[in-house]
Amino acid sequence: MDTHLTVDRGACAGHGLCYGAAPELVDCDEQGDPIIVADPVPEERIGAARHVVDVCPERALALQESQPA
Ligand code: SF4
Repeated sequence: MDTHLTVDRGACAGHGLCYGAAPELVDCDEQGDPIIVADPVPEERIGAARHVVDVCPERALALQESQPA
């Protein structure tokens, strides 16, 4: 299974806690909106990905699993 970190842009308030907490997984664009930079999430970063989902106060981040391509 591959694990993907996703962002719901409609729910995101853009305050940047996610890319502050895990910049190796989430970066930001010029508007301060998050960009997922590790897709799929590397196995050794799954714990950090779960943490960053918990950090988002807007519940805009989620983890989804898929079969490897
Ligand atoms: S922590 Fe959540 S609401 Fe804030 S920028 Fe990241 S995804 Fe958006």
